[in-house]
Amino acid sequence: MGSAAVEAATPARGESPATAKRIILLGPPGAGKGTQAVVVAARLGVPHVSTGDIFRANVCGNTELGQQAKSYMDAGELVPDSLTNAMVAARLVGPDVAGGVLLDGFPRTVEQAAVLGELLSAASTQVDAAVELVVDTDELVSRLLRRAVDQGRADDTETVIRNRMDVYRRETAPLAAYYRERGLLRQVSGIGRVEQVTAAVLAALSD
Ligand code: AMP
Repeated sequence: MGSAAVEAATPARGESPATAKRIILLGPPGAGKGTQAVVVAARLGVPHVSTGDIFRANVCGNTELGQQAKSYMDAGELVPDSLTNAMVAARLVGPDVAGGVLLDGFPRTVEQAAVLGELLSAASTQVDAAVELVVDTDELVSRLLRRAVDQGRADDTETVIRNRMDVYRRETAPLAAYYRERGLLRQVSGIGRVEQVTAAVLAALSD
């Protein structure tokens, strides 16, 4: 490795060399991504950016984006890349994400992952790690049905849950291989108490 490459790999002042700062949280619906994302982002001191939360806020506020996204969300389908990528691009230029970000629910397709790579490289950064929360299907379905009762989310009915699972398997699961090929995938069991899973995620990120 030449000295220029060594220099390029040296973290900027103030950044921890050991802990990843631009992180993607992957995992099927019900794996606990949202719960873990909030805690892990707080522990790492980086903003938590959830595309699902941003879409839901737009639906609540009845914005144009919310109106365009709602029917897809209600059916458990992915919102088209054109809308999603533009929304993420706008969010990632925010000054608060300059030092790092924890992405929850994005990317969800290989196409989105490629766009994310381009957005970050335009800012001279890159994805540092993709953490996949691994939970078996039976546990996922029972968690989602419980959440439907607790939170009353419109996309937590059984038909929509099944569709979201199918969409995940078809569109999003391939991202594990995508990030594994790039040496960025860290798999963590999503079963156990919230604090245990958080500890495992943090440990995987500081490896
Ligand atoms: P979530 O809260 O991450 O489960 O997202 C809720 C819904 O928002 C999803 O079922 C999709 O309809 C939509 N959504 C969230 N993130 C994305 C994304 N990256 N690409 C497309 N649709 C998304």
